[in-house]
Amino acid sequence: MLDRRNFYINGKWIAPSKPNDFEVINPSNEETFATISLGYKEDIDKAVNVAKNAFIKWKETSKEERIVLLEKLLTIYKKRFNEMTKAISMEMGAPMDWSSSAQTTSGQSHLEDFILRLKGFNFEEHFDSKSNNQINYEPIGVCGLITPWNWPINQIALKVVPALATGCTMILKPSEIAPISAMLFAEMIDETGFPSGVFNLVNGDGVGVGTHISSHPDIDMVSFTGSTRAGKLISKNAADTIKRVCLELGGKGGNIVFADSHPNAVRDGIRNVMSNSGQSCDAPTRMLVEKPIYERAIKEAAEEAKLIKVDVASKKGDHIGPVVSKTQYNKIINLIKSGIDEGATLAAGGPDLPNNLNKGYFIKPTIFTNVTNDMEIAKKEIFGPVLSIISFKTEEEAIKITNDTEYGLGNYLQTEDKEKAKRVAKKLRSGCVYINGNTADPGTPFGGYRQSGNGREGGTWGLEEYLEVKTITGWK
Ligand code: NAD
Repeated sequence: MLDRRNFYINGKWIAPSKPNDFEVINPSNEETFATISLGYKEDIDKAVNVAKNAFIKWKETSKEERIVLLEKLLTIYKKRFNEMTKAISMEMGAPMDWSSSAQTTSGQSHLEDFILRLKGFNFEEHFDSKSNNQINYEPIGVCGLITPWNWPINQIALKVVPALATGCTMILKPSEIAPISAMLFAEMIDETGFPSGVFNLVNGDGVGVGTHISSHPDIDMVSFTGSTRAGKLISKNAADTIKRVCLELGGKGGNIVFADSHPNAVRDGIRNVMSNSGQSCDAPTRMLVEKPIYERAIKEAAEEAKLIKVDVASKKGDHIGPVVSKTQYNKIINLIKSGIDEGATLAAGGPDLPNNLNKGYFIKPTIFTNVTNDMEIAKKEIFGPVLSIISFKTEEEAIKITNDTEYGLGNYLQTEDKEKAKRVAKKLRSGCVYINGNTADPGTPFGGYRQSGNGREGGTWGLEEYLEVKTITGWK
């Protein structure tokens, strides 16, 4: 059993102000494997105070000084890569191979890319040749960073690294469900030798520590990734202090499969939804299939879902793991039951445990067909291995259904017709559109429209979120 009760404040691991133990559970076997503490207002006040003091010197460091430290952090991250893979696998159930190739790799790739973008970023620029005005970019100050459990180190790297890179100081509150990877990352920051107080970590839940961060008068910015539900509460709690609030929230992505798409388009779409056990904000969980290939698509979708193995995270191999917690498990099972009750056809999976497993939060890859966009399973972010298939007749109808959601994070489309692909991509109301399975390059911006959020993380856009912009006249 791991004892991880301390917080990282002012360059030291220190005990919380009051004991408040919280058990971290391995979702593959439902057993507790670590104990952390949930913090109180006093812990946040302490961390904010040191971050505020540390900001005075840290904001004056040069870009070059920060690059040296970030490069050292990258070296340490690579050295401790396997520890990170194991931590993520245990805390949120990612199978070891996936944890390594997708989860841990994402943290490394963000570190590499932010170093590259920082090298090319100008913090001071002249407005234009005729003007005597100067435009400077300055770190916003003390940042509260609140992250989820589903891509734990991915989200942490997307916030902590640009905050460090731009000269901000910070308090990280990782998900209490998956905090071990975050604490390992804190150890790496400590080993790197960042000045005390620049990075601090306080564990806690949303109602407690999350609310104290959102409403704290000395926190200049909150960057949050998580549910739209919590994003709304954070915005309300932050309102009185007018801090910057950057939100990366949920999604209900559409995947438009036109009749002229690649022969593997349906099967690839199924694999995409089911990876990470369906727990990705930009998972294409509504598959829209053009009428002429609908029958073929539902047959292929069901076949492919049944081929996907479900097993414990500690096993190597190409399978999916459990969902993260009992709460998520119950929510997903209830939504599967609601799909059946609403009259959708269950083509694969369903609410029962997979045959090979009798404990753990495992859910069979589940496919619903004959879904309409007004059903709960088409509207709600299920956040599990569940796909809804909807048919369409025309391009206009496909665009209308895809956009008919309160979210707008990632949408997908499949067609061999390049002009149609571009035409449709421009009409989809989301922060990302993925054509024919192409992935986004490191350094491209990631974020949502509408209730999927208001921020853009990654690359230069990710650096700019942590900066204030200042106009200075009479510069020449
Ligand atoms: P969650 O909103 O329950 O929790 C996320 C984090 O917020 C946790 O650290 C939690 O403790 C904290 N929190 C909860 N309530 C809070 C409150 N009232 N005030 C302050 N903090 C609070 O989400 P989750 O279940 O951990 O993560 C899954 C969600 O995250 C999904 O909706 C998913 O789509 C979203 N997500 C979005 C992105 C993106 O980039 N848009 C990426 C990953 C995950």
